[in-house]
Amino acid sequence: MADDPFENMLAQMDRAEEYADVDHGVFERLKHPERTLKVTLPVELESGEVEVFEGYRCQFDSARGPFKGGVRFHPTVTQREVEALAGWMTWKTALVDLPYGGAKGGVICEPKDLTERDLERLTRRYTEGIRRMIGPEIDVPAPDMNTNPQTMAWMMDTYSMYEGYSVPQVVTGKPLEIGGTPGRVEATGRGVSLVTERLFEYLDRDLSDTTIAIQGFGNVGSNAARLLDEGGANVVATSDVSGAAYDPNGLDVAALGAHVDAGGLVEEYVAGEIRGGASTADSRWDDPDQITNAELLTLDVDVLIPAAVEGVITADNVDDLRASAVVEAANGPTTVAADKALTERDIQVVPDILANAGGVIVSYLEWVQNAQEFSWPLETVNAELERRIGSAFDKTVEQYDTKELPDLRTAAYTLALERTAKAHEYRGLFP
Ligand code: NAD
Repeated sequence: MADDPFENMLAQMDRAEEYADVDHGVFERLKHPERTLKVTLPVELESGEVEVFEGYRCQFDSARGPFKGGVRFHPTVTQREVEALAGWMTWKTALVDLPYGGAKGGVICEPKDLTERDLERLTRRYTEGIRRMIGPEIDVPAPDMNTNPQTMAWMMDTYSMYEGYSVPQVVTGKPLEIGGTPGRVEATGRGVSLVTERLFEYLDRDLSDTTIAIQGFGNVGSNAARLLDEGGANVVATSDVSGAAYDPNGLDVAALGAHVDAGGLVEEYVAGEIRGGASTADSRWDDPDQITNAELLTLDVDVLIPAAVEGVITADNVDDLRASAVVEAANGPTTVAADKALTERDIQVVPDILANAGGVIVSYLEWVQNAQEFSWPLETVNAELERRIGSAFDKTVEQYDTKELPDLRTAAYTLALERTAKAHEYRGLFP
């Protein structure tokens, strides 16, 4: 990834412009966020010290509906990163045709150094800081890196306290007990699994017995691994920050999942220090080998799924990749230079704005249920997720084939940019 994620997003837009049916003036408008609020957040920590944090909320584009996007807590958050992520949310909601625009929020902090109470105070202060710009019909935050259903509960409570009544619809990704939806936690991994199946159908290949390597075994990676495994694919490698496990015959995904859910690391699993009730003797297969995250990326597999961090497929390692397809579960895992090389090598890439859209689709379903004051069973949520992400996949492939575009990312971007531009054209330029 370019050092500046915003430049990276602009480069992706520029690559799509020559194929997109978008007026140049409108296209230029789409390169600028509507607004970004920067907030200063003094918080009295549990230690008694006062620490001053900085946070942002960027609202990128609202032509298609209320702003939508997560909030991340991370030491490397910058205004430009938040703006780039808000742009990507705009293209993602447009591509999967949700009636939303795009937004993102971030707070510069190291959550590992904060207590639960510190995190609650920081979240509440941040919510107060951005409170005037969010709302069920205005801008609806959700979890992102290092934020979770508990964070959303604190945001919802803080907002509701100011309003004087409960407003569950102001955030999505909430706990079930306060208006969350079944299926939200595993939605992104389920979407990744669904688009991988669709890709194989499109390529006229059978997913069963294909080999898959997944970088990252967190929320997205572990759920994608479980569902792909259940679907008959062979997950041969996965990793976390401690390193990767590899077995060419396939990993015992269920045992590894139980180990990680119990707080274990992948390297401990490989070393035989298995938590979560599974033992090596219970494992269906041999002991896996320990390899590095870098080695995982270049394994000879059918599908590579980066599901950890940004910028892992770069100009430095792209020539060593041996997978025939890449499904981008993480946001921005491929740099612009590496992306061009993948296209030249005819390696199919399902872009992040499509592959990981399952999360925002189910967030939308949560928001709709809150508006209806009605809750749906898990089967309804999963069926609607499958219908929506499947339709977005089919439209992307149709665009790719009929316009003879260089790759699926260009197809996804042209669709998203055309939809957003059309909304701007119909609405016109105020005043
Ligand atoms: P997570 O924190 O649950 O898991 C991240 C995983 O990546 C962990 O296994 C972690 O150990 C591993 N990891 C962290 N740093 C690493 C490194 N440097 N090298 C290798 N592995 C590393 O996060 P998540 O929610 O699973 O999100 C993963 C990616 O998917 C992120 O890019 C996120 O933006 C994207 N995403 C998540 C969602 C969602 O609903 N959770 C939605 C859309 C996109």
